[in-house]
Amino acid sequence: MTYVRTIEHADIVHRCFRCGYCKFPSDYVDFNCPSYKAFGWDTYSPGGRMWLIRAWLNDEIKSSPHFAEILYSCVACDNCKTQCVFPKFKDFIPDIFQEAKAELVNEGRIPPEVRDYFKAIAVNGNPYKLPQSERGKWAEGTGLQPYVNQEYLFYAGCVGSYDEVGQKMARSVGKLLVDAGVSVGILGSEEACDGSEVKILGEMGLFTKLAQENIEQFKGKGVKKIITLDPHALNAFKKDYPKLGGKFKVFHYTEILAGLIKNKKIILSAYPMKITYHDPCYLGRHNQIYGPPREILKAIPGVEFLEMHRNSLNAFCCGGGGGNFFTDILGTGEDSAGRVRIREAMETGARIIAVACPTCAKMLSDAVKAEGLEDKLEILGIAEIMERARTK
Ligand code: SF4
Ligand code: SF4
Repeated sequence: MTYVRTIEHADIVHRCFRCGYCKFPSDYVDFNCPSYKAFGWDTYSPGGRMWLIRAWLNDEIKSSPHFAEILYSCVACDNCKTQCVFPKFKDFIPDIFQEAKAELVNEGRIPPEVRDYFKAIAVNGNPYKLPQSERGKWAEGTGLQPYVNQEYLFYAGCVGSYDEVGQKMARSVGKLLVDAGVSVGILGSEEACDGSEVKILGEMGLFTKLAQENIEQFKGKGVKKIITLDPHALNAFKKDYPKLGGKFKVFHYTEILAGLIKNKKIILSAYPMKITYHDPCYLGRHNQIYGPPREILKAIPGVEFLEMHRNSLNAFCCGGGGGNFFTDILGTGEDSAGRVRIREAMETGARIIAVACPTCAKMLSDAVKAEGLEDKLEILGIAEIMERARTK
């Protein structure tokens, strides 16, 4: 098929026959595509979005602010890739969405929120527009030392470095690693944005620059193994950096902490509490890491672990992926992903939602406030819960 515009996978866009299965979880209990759930129009569903892209490639519809808003309301949760009924096509769905956004970037037709995000990263090196010199401040008091050939580099990322909620999570992980005697260091004010959100939002030139600079820095310092706080960074380091020559052994912090518990390097005491766990899309569906966070919670004496109905492969996104954490295109309405997820967690009877991603932590904390449930539900990182179990 010849289109007026082109993207890498343009030749297979027409294979989507808009059956709509991709917007559900595997048991069809509710809509599992956050943008469709929030807006309710078929164009915001994966299949609808696919047909819009097809019409746009064919110049039947023009680039417009509304078209861009529809594309950028996708939170890259990968539910559609998991649920699409067409085996030969499903793996390319996220690529097609990402390539369409990259083409909009080339045309200069992106939403203002996305443009502001790119500008903040390009100018300040982080989306918060805070000084680079403050990037390592979160680590004060943790005992973490600058990276100089230790076994692991602990990479905090932008949210872990600058956001208050993310910083708390990073500090807990750092303290646990240090106390357990892990050979680990941080880059502090030398750390730079990993570029994961820049890529998913479609700015390929800026992403490549960030990735190449990080790879050069990691190699220059002799980094071989990386522990990430953020599953988005984990995904970029594991899947995107090798294509640019950066091959490292990459772990999520829950994998390392689960191992330390198993090896009795961390001993947990009783913390009687009902806890549920929210799978981050970039840890779960994107990287199939479902076990370690659950193993940690189940290893804490006194914890009653309660699964939400939609979990693991079928988990419902917090709404923060695909750069939406920064651009907020999905919004905070009643059917926004975070608020839907909070109501689902409440059904379990849990008092704490354990999270393994700083973006989820922030999105769900905001959603708890929007739902008026601050006195009933707490959002905590896995390492923060472990710290409680060590001091009780
Ligand atoms: S992406 Fe797959 S499941 Fe979704 S509408 Fe298209 S063919 Fe159907
Ligand atoms: S990746 Fe998630 S938000 Fe985007 S279209 Fe697919 S199911 Fe919807």
